[in-house]
Amino acid sequence: MSWFKKEKTPLPAAKQSRMPEGLWTKCRECAEILYTKEIVRNLSVCPKCNYHMGLSSVERAKALLDDGRYEELETGLTSNDPLEFTDTKRYRDRLARSRESTGLEDAVLIAAGRILGVPVVLAAMEYGFIGGSMGVVVGEKIARAAERALERKIPLLIVSRSGGARMQEGAISLMQMAKISAVLARLDEANVPYISILTDPTTGGVTASFAMLGDINLAEPKALIGFAGPRVIEQTIREPLPSGFQRSEYLEEHGMLDMIVERAAMRETLGKLLRFFTQRVPPSSPSAPGMEDRIEVEMEAEAALAPERVSNEEPVS
Ligand SMILES: [Zn+2]
Repeated sequence: MSWFKKEKTPLPAAKQSRMPEGLWTKCRECAEILYTKEIVRNLSVCPKCNYHMGLSSVERAKALLDDGRYEELETGLTSNDPLEFTDTKRYRDRLARSRESTGLEDAVLIAAGRILGVPVVLAAMEYGFIGGSMGVVVGEKIARAAERALERKIPLLIVSRSGGARMQEGAISLMQMAKISAVLARLDEANVPYISILTDPTTGGVTASFAMLGDINLAEPKALIGFAGPRVIEQTIREPLPSGFQRSEYLEEHGMLDMIVERAAMRETLGKLLRFFTQRVPPSSPSAPGMEDRIEVEMEAEAALAPERVSNEEPVS
């Protein structure tokens, strides 16, 4: 019977879109179709509804540091998969794929540069690398960045964008919380400023450690910031959560954040804060020699005048 053997003809391919790939981007918040170049020009903030889209760590470093220039520090560290972990995929394969797609060794970029002339060490987390999760490499790199800031006596900035500790490294990833917090305490003793910038999303062990330990904690508008997810909390306390819970605005209102800063104003705000902390006058020439020495002297003078610096650290439960 011939109709049982009827040959299957493939369906005709859908007409190709006339729009080239990547020319337009849809805003996740307001669904507006936007010209990608315009969004990039606007630091990946929706011009229509002010939604702050995610930035990669490289985009972040370029957006914050003078002339978009920086020197990458603490390279050459990669995870050796201590638990030989496999979930739906092998952890080693996940690492390899993330390395390829992001061009980074792990979920953080450490950069030395300047903000409005003030030298800083910046750690920018990369969400595209296994959800920006903190494993042994991220922990070690951030700890070393803090040590570098301590050594050079220049401010440390950490831009958090992370789903928390990296499950695939088990307890070793949790230990990074204590390790980084310990170095930050040394920074505090030495009066070296640390500014934390929380972006969407900052959750889990990152929130529960260094992201909330800044001398100043800044956040971008409407960023999701929390420890456990809202569903887990609701089930635990058996109560519906208030609206806007775990967003920057709610946290600022409840004293967990110092300031919410729009991306377009971030560099200027950081410049002001850094000058305040390092007591510098605006530089006549950002590349003046011996600036780091001057900051060091000024910081020592400040330390002598005010040995007890007020810390705004929030207790973490
Ligand atoms: Zn929008």
